[in-house]
This record gives sequence, structure tokens and C-alpha cells, in this order.
Amino acid sequence: PRPIEVLQSALSETESQRQAIEVKGAVVHWFKSDLRTRDNKALHMASEKAKEKGVPLIAMYIVSPQDFEAHLTAPARVDFILRTLEVLKEVLAQLNIPLHIATVEKRKAIPGRIVELLKEWGASHLFANMEYEVDELRREAGLVRSCLENDIAMDVVPDTCVVAAGEIENSTGKQYSVFTPWFRSWIAYIHGNGHVLDIFEPPGMNPDSARDRFADLFESKIPDAPDGKKLSDEEKKRFSSMWPAGEHEAHRRLNKFCEERIGSYIAQRDLPGVAATSALSVHLASGTLNARTAVSSALAHSHTPRLDGGSTGMQTWIREIGWRDFYKHVLAHWPYICMNKPWKATYSNIEWEYNPAHFEAWCAGRTGYPIVDAAMRQLRHCGYMHNRCRMIAASFLAKHLLVDWRMGERYFMEHLIDGDFASNNGGWGYCASTGVDPQPYFRIFNPLLQSEKFDADGVYIRTWVKELEGIGGRAVHDPYGRGKGEEARLAGYSERIVPHKESRERCIERYQEGIGGT
Ligand code: FAD
Repeated sequence: PRPIEVLQSALSETESQRQAIEVKGAVVHWFKSDLRTRDNKALHMASEKAKEKGVPLIAMYIVSPQDFEAHLTAPARVDFILRTLEVLKEVLAQLNIPLHIATVEKRKAIPGRIVELLKEWGASHLFANMEYEVDELRREAGLVRSCLENDIAMDVVPDTCVVAAGEIENSTGKQYSVFTPWFRSWIAYIHGNGHVLDIFEPPGMNPDSARDRFADLFESKIPDAPDGKKLSDEEKKRFSSMWPAGEHEAHRRLNKFCEERIGSYIAQRDLPGVAATSALSVHLASGTLNARTAVSSALAHSHTPRLDGGSTGMQTWIREIGWRDFYKHVLAHWPYICMNKPWKATYSNIEWEYNPAHFEAWCAGRTGYPIVDAAMRQLRHCGYMHNRCRMIAASFLAKHLLVDWRMGERYFMEHLIDGDFASNNGGWGYCASTGVDPQPYFRIFNPLLQSEKFDADGVYIRTWVKELEGIGGRAVHDPYGRGKGEEARLAGYSERIVPHKESRERCIERYQEGIGGT
């Protein structure tokens, strides 16, 4: 059985026993990648349960350095999470709800520590939202049972997607592997199930007595980033000002985007030099914003109840939120993609180059292809890269350099502030043509054409590649080909590390050999 089925079985097999457990002592919500109080299903359920018998609600977050390692969490992302916890703690404290933060070194020890804490607090109920990564699903399945052995009822509910994984099937009852028909079904599902976009109320106030009873939990400290995940002071300042944390900030950004930019999204979303997209990925990945809230808000601002109503800008933006859901459904259905495997087994036969100099040049933004270099430098500086550029940079690594796409996937996770396994893996699979619903392998982005089309005036390149700042006109896209190259050479900008045409031909040949030309 798939890990999601293992968890679902654990929940259904224990349902009557869990239901029979009476509310006593306290109810606990376990925050994971859902760091918000608004529109949080499990937190809302926990609050309702606590209200039933007037017991306090306790919130908990577990920091596990080994978990950060295992998930390749970027230091900027760890910093964002810790800053978010700071805000969340304050928001909860205003409701008299303590946020207890426990540090557990080894990830395997997390369930045991949770049971210990619940027993210590005399809690009878634990609530959490479901995460679709393999290890998390298995862990939660085990925890449901070990809680029960201690007379504690654990509920795990789907809330990370607008539509829960497993709810959408094709006409033969299977998971779609192609986005467009899946997306049609996604829209039909939402329209056909009126409650899907209902927003969950934030938790209510805890009784005043919670302050005395759990005084020490209110004192819980946010730890420093673990070794290996620390930022320098300069980086800390930079990321804090670029990416302010907390759910209020997520809502501010969402409202601003819906008011000012969503209408022109379709026309400008592919232009990396224009701030035309929502920049909400960091909030969706950390759960400071629920995808459902994002969709509801877009509809409300457009005064339409229909996903296929409103402006084309709004529809296109909601389609992007759909992509996020799609990749999570794919992960839940084909969990082996979590294990470094391409979606289709035959793609394992592609012979990669593993040229370390090429990989390093790509990472450092020194490939001699300005649009690729600008993208990679934006990533290092901001922990973020524009979507169009993620596609160009990923395609370049896998196809022009023939470096194993999994090395790029890993590098992205290690640097993205919005790193999300499903979306990142999906994006890499699409660009390397090895994933679900891939672009055909013989469709190879031409970096020069992409650059001229989407960064026509070279604003994006000049922002990130300082060596090319002074180069005017079209030469900025190809300083040694289009321009004379003197200025670029003097400024220290590298020449192309591989030629375009030959790399393209080599790639097509290699893919044909590997996958048999299909
Ligand atoms: P907007 O254009 O405003 O879109 C709104 C939201 O929709 C985004 O915040 C995001 O949650 C979702 N979204 C948009 N495009 C996609 C997409 N193609 N796939 C899945 N969800 C999407 N996104 C991540 O959140 N984390 C990642 O680790 C990640 N890695 C990627 C790697 C590659 C190689 C590629 C091609 C794409 C990746 N994406 C990833 C998707 C996308 O690039 C980002 O979500 C987007 O650039 C974020 O900017 P935004 O919030 O302004 O997006």
C-alpha cells in the first residue's frame, strides 16, 4: 500500500476507538507546514474539540535538525520558519494559547517525544494536518496507533491542497498523469462540492486559567538555526527584509496582488524583470497561507463564485495554484518519486555527464548564457527564482549540460526559501522531460530566444549579472555572439561553457539512446 493508504487505514481502523476517547486535560495542535491560525482545518478542529469540554488548547512545533537535513531545507527557509514561529507565538498568545517549541535531534524520536509531551500535559486529543511526503505519512500512521495505546486520540486531516489528494480520478478510476484533464476535473470538483472553498475560523480564546496552568509553555523559546543551517548576519538582514514572515504578511501580499496585479497576470507573469507574480510561494510552502484562502480571495476580489469566471488573469493564476495541487496529488499517488526515481522507469537509462566543472559553473551563474546566469544569481541572492527562469535554468542543466536533473533538484531545494518537494520535483521532471506530464524531450529551450522574448530589454540580466550592466541593446543576451565581446571580457564575464547547437543535438541523441526514442 502507498504511505497515504497506510495512514488512511490507521485512521479508519481506529476510528471508533478514537471517537470513544473523552476530552480531558487539554487538546493539542501540532504545527508542521501549516504555520497559521487562519483557515487551518486541524487547528480549527482542535479548538472546537477543546471548547466542547472547556479544556485549554496547546499548540506545539517540533524542531528537528535532522529533519531539516533530510529535507535539504535551505538555511534561508529554516530562518523563515523560525521567524514565522516568532510571529505565530505572539498571535497565539493573544488568544491565551501557548506555543510550545521542542527540539528533537533525531527525526525518528519525534513521535516518542510527542507522546511524552501529551502525557505530561494530560492531553486527550492531538490534531495535525496531513503532509504528503512519504516519511511523514508513515510517521503519522505510527503515531495514530501509539497515541491510542496511551489513550490519546489523534486526528490527521488533509488541508494542504485545495482539493485533497485522492479525490480526483480519471474515468477509469486512476490518478491523472496529465495536467490539463486533471485541472478540468479539479475545477468541476470544486464547483460540484460547495464546501471546498469554505474558510475555517481561527481558534477561539483559551480560558484564562490556561495562562497559569501552562505558564512554562508560554515561556517556550524559539531556538537558533541548527549548525549547517545558519545564515550570516548580512544574510539574515537581507532575507528578513525581502521576505517578512507571518500570516499577516501573507494576507497583505495576497490582498495587494489581488487588488493590483491579478488582472495583468496573464500578460506579464512570464517577464522576470517585472514584479508581476504574487511572490506567495514562500507562504504557501510554509503554510502561512492556505491555498484555499488564496483561491477564495482571488474569487472574492473578482466578484465571481466561479473559477472559470472573472478575468483571464485570475483564471490563469488559479491554474498555477492548481499546478501546486497537481504535483502534491502526484506525490501522494506515486510516492517513489520521493526516492530519487524518475516518474517513468525507462528514464533511468539516460546516461548523464556528471561534469563537475559544468555543474559548478551552473550553480555559480557562470555558464556564459546571461539569462541562465542571472537566474542562478537571483536564486543565491533572494532564495527565489522567477518561474520562467526556473524552467530555463533547469532545462539548461539537464539538456545543454546533460547533468543529472536530480543534482539540480537538490541544489534548488538547498537554496530556495519556498522549497517544496512536490513542486520542485514536478518542475524538474517537466523541464528534464523525465517526470509526469513532461514537455517532450526534443523540446529544448533555446536560452537566447527565451532571453530575447521574456527579458527583451535585458532588465533582469542587468540586475543580476553585474558584469553586463553596462552592455546596451541586444548584445546583453549574447555578449560574445551578438556583441563584440570586448566589454564583457574586460568586465570578467565568461564565454559560453558549451555551444548551443551541438549541445542540443547531443541531448536529443542521448535521450533517444536512453529511452528508445519514445
Ligand atoms: P505565482 O505565479 O504568483 O503563482 C501562485 C502560486 O502558484 C505560487 O506561489 C505557487 O505556490 C503555485 N505555482 C505557480 N507555478 C507553479 C508551478 N509551476 N508548479 C507548482 N506550483 C506553482 N514552487 C514552489 O513553491 N517550490 C519549489 O520548490 C518550486 N520549485 C520549482 C522548480 C522548477 C524547476 C520549476 C520549473 C518550478 C518550481 N516551482 C516551485 C514552481 C514555481 O516556479 C514557483 O511556485 C513560482 O515561481 C513562485 O512564484 P510566485 O509565488 O510569484 O508564483
